[in-house]
Amino acid sequence: MTITREGDGGKEAVRVSLRQKKCTVFTLMLGVPALLYLIAMALERTGLDVYEAIPAMAFFAVIAGVLLHVLWMRCPHCGSWLERNDGEYCQNCGKRIDWDAKPGKE
Ligand SMILES: [Zn+2]
Repeated sequence: MTITREGDGGKEAVRVSLRQKKCTVFTLMLGVPALLYLIAMALERTGLDVYEAIPAMAFFAVIAGVLLHVLWMRCPHCGSWLERNDGEYCQNCGKRIDWDAKPGKE
């Protein structure tokens, strides 16, 4: 049986490991603003209106990154926020965190 990544009304959620989530969060918080900064540099002399909106876009990317960090970076055992914990064990319950485990797998 093959699992489709899209469709099915999201019932069959895409299995994403904590490591992948963390990667997404940091791309949002660092990669997107960096990219926007480069775009801003390129647009600086054009005087386009988009240029004005770039700081706000970067700001929202960072906010979204922070929100996703709080939502996703949680201990699979007790559900507490891992904050900047990169270690193998949860700072709250002390259980091992499997950064590559994909939830839903039996
Ligand atoms: Zn825990």
